[in-house]
Amino acid sequence: LQLQFQITLFGNNDHLLVVRNITRIHLLDQMRKDFVSNVSHELRTPLTVISGYLETLLDHAEQLSPRWLRAMQQMQGQANRMQQLLNDLLLLARLEASDHPSEAQPVDLCVLLQQILNDARSLSAGQHQISLDVSPGSQLKGSERELHSAFSNLVFNAVKYTPAQGSIRIRWWSDSLGGHLAVEDSGIGIEARHLPRLAERFYRVDSSRSSSTGGTGLGLAIVKHVLMRHSGRLEIRSKLGEGSTFTCHFAPAALAAQAS
Ligand code: ADP
Repeated sequence: LQLQFQITLFGNNDHLLVVRNITRIHLLDQMRKDFVSNVSHELRTPLTVISGYLETLLDHAEQLSPRWLRAMQQMQGQANRMQQLLNDLLLLARLEASDHPSEAQPVDLCVLLQQILNDARSLSAGQHQISLDVSPGSQLKGSERELHSAFSNLVFNAVKYTPAQGSIRIRWWSDSLGGHLAVEDSGIGIEARHLPRLAERFYRVDSSRSSSTGGTGLGLAIVKHVLMRHSGRLEIRSKLGEGSTFTCHFAPAALAAQAS
């Protein structure tokens, strides 16, 4: 049995307690999660077979006519996208399954962010100025894998949504309020009306633009879930045409002992 308690103050120091039985809603939500997770899992095998044969066929590209070659390459591109989508859906399903990170080890942020920086530079292929600012010894308690997913989603988005010659700045700092990771870009920016819904699954500002950048629409949903599990929160500031800053805030308790 799942009960939801809501206490409201009313009148002259009186309290109103509303208790709702949310067992059914809870069960439905569980069914939705299981369904998405099972479907994603079941689709993986057929997709692996399709991708595998496409790869084999493309290994013999010289035997294909140019017309077929183009078609095969497009099929492979879309198959890869589908695989990425399934990976993200499975990751989200895993993140939703529990409220706490799978582990709470001190994560070395220098190593983690340097890795992400290298990957971002190769994604950018020299088209952006990307800088990293993190002091040695910075640590955060949590799951390295989950934090890697969250931070790399933010950094890769900055690369994807910043035109060539733009700049991207990654910064970690800690203070009395806790630890903070900011990813700042000089990119296309986002209109204010989209900000509240941005982290919803599959929410996109411009669907035509997203399909050309190859995103799944799940990146920020993953970020939000990872942060929730690490008692953190996401702050988004953006101005259309000027750029965006995505900041992850972590509570002081999440800083590992040496770092604080
Ligand atoms: P996607 O896979 O489409 O990038 P995300 O969940 O990561 O999905 O992001 C949702 C939407 O938010 C994107 O489609 C894009 O419109 C917008 N967005 C995310 N990051 C940025 C950014 N740094 N600059 C501009 N727009 C962004």
